[in-house]
Amino acid sequence: MPDGARVDALVDQLLEAHPPASTKDTEFWAAQYDLGLGWVHFPEGFGGLGLDPKLQERIDERLEQAGAPSNVNVNFMGIGMAGPTIVVRGTDEQRQRFLRPAFACEEIWCQLFSEPGAGSDLASLSTRAVRDGDEWVFNGQKVWTTLAHVADWAMILARTDPEQPKHKGLTYFLIDMRQPGIEVRPLRQINGEAEFNEVYLTDARTPDSLRVGDVGEGWAVALTTLMNERVAFGHLSRAPRGSGAIGQAVRALQSHEPDDEAARDEVTKAWIANELVRLTTVRAQEMRERGTPGPEGAVVKLAYTTTVEQTWKLAVDLMGPDGLLISNYDMIRPTTMGGSSIAESGENQDVVKAWLTQRGGTIGGGTTDIGRNILAERVLGLPGDPKADKDLPWSQVPRS
Ligand SMILES: Cc1cc2nc3c(=O)[nH]c(=O)nc-3n(C[C@H](O)[C@H](O)[C@H](O)COP(=O)(O)OP(=O)(O)OC[C@H]3O[C@@H](n4cnc5c(N)ncnc54)[C@H](O)[C@@H]3O)c2cc1C
Repeated sequence: MPDGARVDALVDQLLEAHPPASTKDTEFWAAQYDLGLGWVHFPEGFGGLGLDPKLQERIDERLEQAGAPSNVNVNFMGIGMAGPTIVVRGTDEQRQRFLRPAFACEEIWCQLFSEPGAGSDLASLSTRAVRDGDEWVFNGQKVWTTLAHVADWAMILARTDPEQPKHKGLTYFLIDMRQPGIEVRPLRQINGEAEFNEVYLTDARTPDSLRVGDVGEGWAVALTTLMNERVAFGHLSRAPRGSGAIGQAVRALQSHEPDDEAARDEVTKAWIANELVRLTTVRAQEMRERGTPGPEGAVVKLAYTTTVEQTWKLAVDLMGPDGLLISNYDMIRPTTMGGSSIAESGENQDVVKAWLTQRGGTIGGGTTDIGRNILAERVLGLPGDPKADKDLPWSQVPRS
């Protein structure tokens, strides 16, 4: 049977045995995983069928049409980043233990990478992991950790050898967030919400069996996570034509400035820019599906986040005095990605809040400047910045 027909038959089977309207979300996702329809390119027995990743789109479309729940924003880090890292870099025990609960959203994940002194230059991070028998002991501080307040597990990058150059002394682990050595404190954002957090690790522990990759090889494992993060952002940016920010800009034009020709010109330009981004996203994704994710993911992220931010700003400008109003400034603690401001869509969306939220999109997952550096160096082949600390032992690199 051709792969497409095989997948279609399994989707039919899933929908028949677990009608979305009467099945609990977590049960539906677990059944989807068991049939190999979770990450279709993963090996059989691990949520996939070892097939072309392009078929995932076909599966997702059919499930969406049938009214099935979507798990991506519920466990963005688990499904978009931890799963794809564990399947490639993890042990069979780790795959067995973590993939199914992550896909079913029975266990929520977060990403403990960034620190107060290490964001764009992630490899300079300071959180220490020291071996103690069969365990590792962690001390340090992480920051900007999205959804840490609901997370059960985290991917963590820590320094295991300060005498090695910065990229070489790092190791990657999985760590239980529900332990006394981990303290999560909310960070309130410009939109009033606290989707991300500071995370303090004080003698937090994880067993050596939850190390991913060899000691000192953490940077390579982290790159797998970061590449998949860009791809996952790419999925988020595949909104239908005319939806999201540009849809709101058109609505704002119609209701506030219907006769202003200059405003109409601005909205037309924004429409074209958004359409170019949408088509570039589709093309980049198709290229990725033929091989592995590469720097084109950074192009999409860069183009999408900057264009959408400018478009939200245009919508706010067109609203005139109404653009000064925000629906509420309560400190909401979102439990899914994107916060409450993008949970709503169409007429109900709070445009001002969505614009403020989108500003974080140009920073998280790599800033716009870093996106431009990647484009310059890896796509255009321009010379990179001088890297004076590349070969120095991390312990000798000056830090503030
Ligand atoms: C909404 C949101 C969610 C996030 N979620 C997570 C998460 O879940 N887990 C996690 O680990 N992190 C998360 N982050 C952190 C994010 O990865 C970092 O904020 C990002 O990598 C930038 O690091 P930084 O904030 O330390 O800024 P810095 O790296 O200090 O950068 C400051 C400024 O300098 C510029 N800059 C820095 N280096 C260069 C350079 N070489 N060339 C040119 N310009 C440069 C930057 O573009 C920026 O404008 C999140 C951030 C946001 C906004």
